[in-house]
Amino acid sequence: MFEKVLIANRGEIALRILRACKEMGIATVAVHSQVDRDLKHVRLADESVCVGPNPSPQSYLNIPSIIAAMEITDAQAVHPGYGFLAENADFAEQVQKSGFTFIGPDPDVIRLMGDKVSAIAAMKKAGVPTVPGSNGPLPDNGERCLAIAREIGYPVIIKAAAGGGGRGMRVVHTEAALLNAISVTRSEAEAAFGDGTVYMEKFLQNPRHVEIQVLSDGQGNAIHLGDRDCSLQRRHQKVLEEAPAPGIPDEVRSQVQESCVQACIDIGYRGAGTFEFLYEDGRFYFIEMNTRIQVEHPVTEMVTGVDLIKEQIRVCAGEKLSIRQEDISIRGHAFECRINAEDPKTFFPCPGKVNNFHTPGGLGVRVDSHLYSGYTVPANYDSMIAKIITHGEDRQEALARMRVALSELIVDGIKTNIPLQEELVRDEAFAQGGVNIHYLEKKLEL
Ligand code: ADP
Repeated sequence: MFEKVLIANRGEIALRILRACKEMGIATVAVHSQVDRDLKHVRLADESVCVGPNPSPQSYLNIPSIIAAMEITDAQAVHPGYGFLAENADFAEQVQKSGFTFIGPDPDVIRLMGDKVSAIAAMKKAGVPTVPGSNGPLPDNGERCLAIAREIGYPVIIKAAAGGGGRGMRVVHTEAALLNAISVTRSEAEAAFGDGTVYMEKFLQNPRHVEIQVLSDGQGNAIHLGDRDCSLQRRHQKVLEEAPAPGIPDEVRSQVQESCVQACIDIGYRGAGTFEFLYEDGRFYFIEMNTRIQVEHPVTEMVTGVDLIKEQIRVCAGEKLSIRQEDISIRGHAFECRINAEDPKTFFPCPGKVNNFHTPGGLGVRVDSHLYSGYTVPANYDSMIAKIITHGEDRQEALARMRVALSELIVDGIKTNIPLQEELVRDEAFAQGGVNIHYLEKKLEL
C-alpha cells in the first residue's frame, strides 16, 4: 500500500479522499491555490503545498506544479478526485513517467473512453447497449450523411467525438437542417477541442439518466455496485441523485449491469468508473463512461456499504479486487442533494463568507462538506459547497429523512439552493419516482 498520497483537488472531494487515506493509515499531501489555504482538508492534511495562484489553470490544472509537489513531498501516488485533471490522459501519463502512480485507469484507457466514437465502439464489442447511430465518425459526404440520418430516423443528434460537459452537441429535427448542423458542429468541435470528428445518434425525446457504478482491478476482476438515477438536472448539471434507480425491471437492470462488468474486463479497466446511460421505454442506451470517482458516489456507498474511494486506492495500488459480485447487495435507498452557493431563483453563483454552518444529523444522514463557520467560499471555483445524503430502508423513508435533514441545515451569510432542494423533495411527481431529464427544467419554467 502507498505510504503517502497527494490529493490533486479541493473542496468536499479532497476532504472525502483525505478521510479515506487517514482510515487506511496513508499520509496525505494537500495541494491548494493561494485563496484555498484555509480549506478544511488543507488544515487536516499531514503536509500541504501551494501550487499556484487562484485561477485553476495556474494551480489545480498546473501539471508541472502538481508533479513538482509530488517530488518535493515524496508522495507515491496522486488521487485526482473529479473535475480538474481527473480525466486528463496526458496528466496520468506524466504522473506515470515521473515514477508515480495515478489513482485511476491507464492513460490509454482514459483516451479510449475520452473519445466518444472509440468508447461507443468498445462498448458495442462488449455487448453494452448503445444508441442507434452512425457507428463511427460521419463521412465528409453529404449524401451519405443524409442516408445515415434517414435510416436512424429524425430527430437525430450530432455530437463531437471529443465533446464533454454538455458541449459540442446539436439536435436536428428535419432533413433540411442536417448538413448545416453537421458543418457547424464540426467547426465548433474543431475550435473547442482541436478535433472536428463528429458522429450521429438517434435523439431520445424523454429519457431518464441512469448510470452504473463499477470497480475493476485491471487484473481480470470487475464488479458492479448497482445503479443511480440522476435525471434531475439543470443545464446538464445534476442536482439531486438517488440509488437505486426506481422502477426498472430486474432482468433489464441485471443485463446491462453484467454488460458493464464485461466491458471493464475487455478494456482492462482499473479503478472506480461509471457507465452513463439514457433509459427510455424499458431500454438502456450507453452515452459515455466517466473514468473517475463521481460527485454522486455516496448514494452507492450508502446502499452497498462499500467505501468506493478506499477500494479505488487499493486496486490502483495493485491489489486484486477483494469484493466479489455475490458480496454486493443493495440495501434500502439513498438520496443526495447537492447544495450550491447560488441564488435559488437566478442560479447566479453567490460566493462569500459563511457566518454559521450547522449540519443535520441522525440515523441515515451523511454530510460531505468542506464548510465550517467563518469559511469564505471563493468566487474562483465550482459553487457546490455540500452534499446532503440520506439513507432509509426504502425510498419513502430515505426521502422523508432528506426532508428533515434539509430543514435542519443552516448555511448563514450566503445564498444557497436549499429552498430549491426543499421544493424538490416535496414534489409529487418526483416522490412517485422515474421523472425524465427534462422534468426539472420544465418545472423551473412554470
Ligand atoms: P457530455 O460528455 O458533454 O456530458 P453526453 O454524451 O454525456 O455528453 O451527453 C450529455 C447530455 O446530452 C445527456 O445527459 C443528455 O441529456 C443529452 N444527450 C446526449 N445524447 C443524447 C441522445 N442520443 N438523445 C437524447 N439526449 C441526449
